[in-house]
Amino acid sequence: MTDNIQTLVIGAGISGLSTAFFLQQQGHRVAVLEASGRAGGNVQTLTHEGFLLEAGPNTLLDNDPAIAALIDGLGLRAELREANPAANRRYVVRDGRAVPLPGSPPAFLTTPLFSPAAKFRLLAEPFIGRAAQEESVAEFVRRRLGQEFLDWAIDPFVSGVYAGDPARLSVRAATAKVYALEREHGSLILGALKKAFKARKAEVQTTPVGHMFSFDRGLGQLIDALAARLGDALHLDTRVQGLQHTHDGWQVNTSQGAFVAQKVVLAVPAEVCAALLEPFLGVRVQPLREIPYPPVMSVALGFRREDVAHALDGFGVLIPAKERVTTLGALFSSTLFPGRAPDGQVLLTVFIGGRRHEEVGAWDDAAIVARVLADLEPILGLRAAPLMTHVQRWSRAIPQYELGHLERIAALDEAMHHLQGLVTRANWRDGVSVSDAIRNALVIASTQT
Ligand SMILES: Cc1cc2nc3c(=O)[nH]c(=O)nc-3n(C[C@H](O)[C@H](O)[C@H](O)COP(=O)(O)OP(=O)(O)OC[C@H]3O[C@@H](n4cnc5c(N)ncnc54)[C@H](O)[C@@H]3O)c2cc1C
Repeated sequence: MTDNIQTLVIGAGISGLSTAFFLQQQGHRVAVLEASGRAGGNVQTLTHEGFLLEAGPNTLLDNDPAIAALIDGLGLRAELREANPAANRRYVVRDGRAVPLPGSPPAFLTTPLFSPAAKFRLLAEPFIGRAAQEESVAEFVRRRLGQEFLDWAIDPFVSGVYAGDPARLSVRAATAKVYALEREHGSLILGALKKAFKARKAEVQTTPVGHMFSFDRGLGQLIDALAARLGDALHLDTRVQGLQHTHDGWQVNTSQGAFVAQKVVLAVPAEVCAALLEPFLGVRVQPLREIPYPPVMSVALGFRREDVAHALDGFGVLIPAKERVTTLGALFSSTLFPGRAPDGQVLLTVFIGGRRHEEVGAWDDAAIVARVLADLEPILGLRAAPLMTHVQRWSRAIPQYELGHLERIAALDEAMHHLQGLVTRANWRDGVSVSDAIRNALVIASTQT
């Protein structure tokens, strides 16, 4: 069915699309095979009742040269929208109240988020040694920074990124950069200070500094541009059903017939990958099936401005598990990116579910909206019902990098060693963020050519 294709990319999420883009840019002939009728996977921007909604990820972080290479390669720089600087403020709920996370040393000294004892405890951090064995995020943070930092800073952060449980996530796999501070500098505080000092010096040399951004028409604009660039090389409604190793490459059997190529990139969720690899690896695919993917629901709420008492002057609010509230947190989306709500209205994007509340995946939309409103009403001062609601359900949302994750991935790579020309590239390995996907895509493309 396809002549002269060098690489077939299976899955048109951001991992697959950006891998195909970078391969094409390096002169490779590629085709992308996508099971569903649209490209983007988790990335999905919608317009609904005058609001611009992100059903999946809301922001991208400009923290790697690969991000700029993709945006410039697609000619999207003029459409790029940096997040409102007000979004640097982040709120964390403590005792039912939204408290700003301190953004400077003086704010840290006066914040009510941590007790004086917890602040004093930080002075000991540089003197704490390294752990001998793999630790969970919770064990690591408790050991280095103390229980309060775990409860009121790290726990909500982990909810915000993974919808995960710090007691189960591996610090080495899930928060690799934090773990590296201990490995390389022996201290998170000293390591962070050294990095900040280096970054300040390097800014003169236009190093990427980690700005949050999106596009005029949301992250879907990136997907549209990638899909347009691929053109006929993107095959939608083409579900991959099986792989066959041939003498000079691979035959990929799909709902639309067979495709052949020398190389195949599997950019699909872990359980799909396991099913495709099982004929070659047998039980050695089992660890892939065991990666937890809890459900997360993204609930968009539109209010008249006067019906929300809170100033909404920041990125959003995170709710630590200690508060015993089901909702994980809310983004102040129309503050983050002005223009996402009709005049006089505001948009919140609320997350519920995750590893500690998997039961929410079984609730109907009405129950989910009711719970989110009940949880947020006292925190944000909601005075009336929303004018707009939209529930996006992700029944298998974000893969969890739990204890043993890196060993499982290493064992899979080892088992795949003899499968020449077949590689895996998706969010269940090497980072879950959109930026991670783009960075890893460039790495893969550079090693395939
Ligand atoms: C609610 C939510 C909020 C998030 N927020 C953020 C955020 O703000 N910032 C951030 O950086 N990240 C965020 N993330 C994470 C990020 O969006 C994802 O990790 C990333 O988009 C995953 O991309 P992917 O291409 O690896 O996988 P996917 O997006 O899952 O793509 C896999 C693709 O493979 C296709 N496929 C499956 N089976 C087959 C088959 N048999 N044949 C062919 N194709 C197949 C699927 O249809 C899909 O299109 C969020 C995720 C969720 C769910």
